[in-house]
Amino acid sequence: MSDAPRTVLITGASRGIGRECAIRLAKLGHRIAVNYNSHAEDANEVVETIRSAGGTATAVGGNVSDKAAVEKMIDEAEAALGPIEILINNAGIISDSLLMRMSDDDFDRVMDTNLKGTYFCSRLLIPGMVKRRWGRIINVSSVVGIRGNIGQTNYSASKAAVHGFTKSLAKEVATRNITVNAVAPGYIRTATTDVLTDKVKDTVKTWIPMGRFGEPEEVAPMIVFLCSEDARYITGDVIRVDGGMAI
Ligand code: NDP
Repeated sequence: MSDAPRTVLITGASRGIGRECAIRLAKLGHRIAVNYNSHAEDANEVVETIRSAGGTATAVGGNVSDKAAVEKMIDEAEAALGPIEILINNAGIISDSLLMRMSDDDFDRVMDTNLKGTYFCSRLLIPGMVKRRWGRIINVSSVVGIRGNIGQTNYSASKAAVHGFTKSLAKEVATRNITVNAVAPGYIRTATTDVLTDKVKDTVKTWIPMGRFGEPEEVAPMIVFLCSEDARYITGDVIRVDGGMAI
């Protein structure tokens, strides 16, 4: 039996891992709100790709680190598609530097997007999920939140905090048929990692038992599975998709 169609909000779905999740979940019949921050044209392309394959999607702009923008974005998504039943907190940024050179702005922007954005979206959507007694929240974190990384104290702290957030919220809502999990990707080929020099990429590959970066197509299936009915007994977990990097 296939799952009932659900309404899904994916933050940062205009590119990379979020885009891949949007297209896959739409193919399963779910209605997708494609959030973006600054690249409306990319989000519209994702919506068009979904619609041209017969799916339902709408683009909703909004910076996840801005509470008022998140409220507006959620209102727009729900007006277009109905109450949001599945939330994928995927929007994330890096702003790397050694701590001794890090600016307060580097620290704040990363925490505000990666952690506070996850908090704002979850905080606003959890009451509806509790009321309806069904929900899924999947937080896209990072293997760097587990093992740390030079130059990423801000990013690593934000993603490790998302792990704590995930586990605590999972306990709060478990009896309401709401699962809350984190998926921790390793190095995945997207705009985030395209900026690395070839030298850095070669070093990183030596840390990965599989010896290569992953693809968005290799992360999205785990997120899609956690959205499903079959994943109903999995909650509070942090699932690595990292080619073995954090073994
Ligand atoms: P991309 O850089 O490819 O895309 C980032 C997405 O997030 C874009 O859609 C962007 O929208 C959106 N975004 C950025 N800031 C905001 C914001 N403030 N509000 C709303 N949307 C925002 O990302 P990836 O696919 O590489 O990463 C997705 C998630 O996976 C992130 O949380 C990242 O930390 C995590 N991750 C990625 C890894 C990798 O190697 N790629 C490794 C481990 C974790 P727009 O373009 O419109 O600004």
